[in-house]
Amino acid sequence: MDQITLGDVTVTRIKEYYGSVEMGPADFFPESPEGAWDEHRSWLAPDFWHPETNECFAAIQTWVLRSEGRTILVDTGVGNHKDRPYAPVWSRLDTGFLDNLAAAGVQPGDVDLVINTHLHIDHVGWNTRLDGRTWVPTFPNATYLMTQRDFDFWNPANDHKPLLGRGNQNVFEDSVAPVHEAGLTHLWDDKYRIDGILRLDLAPGHTPGSSVVTLESGGERALFVGDLVHTALQIVEPETNSCFCEDPAESRATRHKLLGRAADDNALVFPAHLGGQGAVEVVRDGSKFAIKDWAGFARIS
Ligand SMILES: [Zn+2]
Repeated sequence: MDQITLGDVTVTRIKEYYGSVEMGPADFFPESPEGAWDEHRSWLAPDFWHPETNECFAAIQTWVLRSEGRTILVDTGVGNHKDRPYAPVWSRLDTGFLDNLAAAGVQPGDVDLVINTHLHIDHVGWNTRLDGRTWVPTFPNATYLMTQRDFDFWNPANDHKPLLGRGNQNVFEDSVAPVHEAGLTHLWDDKYRIDGILRLDLAPGHTPGSSVVTLESGGERALFVGDLVHTALQIVEPETNSCFCEDPAESRATRHKLLGRAADDNALVFPAHLGGQGAVEVVRDGSKFAIKDWAGFARIS
């Protein structure tokens, strides 16, 4: 099992997908400084970038945290059987995600909390599963934590025009609304204390209600930063946003703040989609950051 221990918490990595995102750096990270990917090629390839085909590589994965007797999922991937007309690579998937979860000893009924770091297509999918023709909560005993800001931003009733545009079509309807209507959501704002070890804070920019999970236990610290850091290049080039960052200036500021905290507090950073070992230790390097060490799990494949 792909599991590590941080203080009194175990963190288990559950894979849904790892591979090409079918986009190159110029499209996915258009703000990348000239030559940056080549400059850092020795460690970006092959875990985060395949230079020979110029494709970015990423994981879609869930972190299972076992903390103070509860089972907590951080992000729930793309999900199966979802109709995604504007994201064909993620449409009508049929992956073994729930089998992977079961192999880690987690049955759907065991999950106490689900954290959606934000409400993008690839972070809420397994919130629900198809039962006949109806989307039902996959984790019927869980409370689903999501931010009020993202809930309002992505609610089609509010008619926002996000950058992701139609790429998030159907997502609120099939993966957010059903758990809300089942009375399983807790919509929070600003900050939320999960237990004595884990807390949630707003980390806006990638989406208006993006959030970060902080773990502090027995001298160990970790930050689960969602998509504020999408790929490893953004650690050494923290000004670089992904093309899906809703507010570019706020996203840069939040990324700087989070990486600064991680460096100063010696906290392991878990970006949602990091391939390789899944987590990274960072240090300050002038106004940027550098990689001190890779950490976490066995390299994903
Ligand atoms: Zn994502």
